[in-house]
Amino acid sequence: MMKKLLLFLFISASIVSLGSINYAHAKEVAKAAIIIDDFGGDVKGVDEFFESDIPITVAIMPFLAESEVQAELAHEKGLEVMLHLPLQPKKGKSSWLGPNPITADLPIEEIKKRVEAAIESIPHVKGINNHMGSRIVEDEDIMRAILEVAKEHNLYFIDSGTSGNTVIPKLAEELGVPWAMRDVFLDDTHSSHSHVNKQMKKLAKVAQKKGSAIGIGHVGIRGTETVKGVKQSATQFQEKQVEIVPVSHLLKSSIDKNPDKFWQN
Ligand SMILES: [Zn+2]
Repeated sequence: MMKKLLLFLFISASIVSLGSINYAHAKEVAKAAIIIDDFGGDVKGVDEFFESDIPITVAIMPFLAESEVQAELAHEKGLEVMLHLPLQPKKGKSSWLGPNPITADLPIEEIKKRVEAAIESIPHVKGINNHMGSRIVEDEDIMRAILEVAKEHNLYFIDSGTSGNTVIPKLAEELGVPWAMRDVFLDDTHSSHSHVNKQMKKLAKVAQKKGSAIGIGHVGIRGTETVKGVKQSATQFQEKQVEIVPVSHLLKSSIDKNPDKFWQN
């Protein structure tokens, strides 16, 4: 008798949980964010992206001729604005970094000052991602300083994924800074729009598999090709029911991550 009752309870519990899983699944829509880096200058792709209806997240380099104007324009168009913070790479020319970059030779106090000034220089900023940075993202002391300033300003941090040995995820978790990692690069310095289109398909696939995904593309030398490729893929995203959203929509706040603690406070 007892055995039968237990079996009955077990089966009912299974049905209930299966039911709720299916229900939750039917409601979930896959989401993808498209961050476009290297805004701030008069380069290819800027005007075309602003004229398009694609809800990109605009990552702007600080202290360039049009950084502030483009941040205001992006905000007016309802696009999310990020600071694209230049961090020293292991290899490359310093001219690639632009004005006031974060380099490993600087004292921590100066690094904090530069991050602070860069944040202040971009109106409507919601988060930060790194421009280059393979050298810096592996450095715990420097990344901690950068993430501490991000936290003070309530900003999220997206790891652009320029080094396999990044300390950003570990430190962001520790400090309680909302963070995420780039999944797919949408272009490179010599990519055609068909390459971008292929990368966008990959982005949609990752989003469907994981529930959400982050792609990063660029304005600049190949900027018009990137715009073209992204625009061509937009209808495919609709067909696949992958929604393009600002990157902040993919991040869990500390409340989402820790509901128990939230209610205790
Ligand atoms: Zn960049």
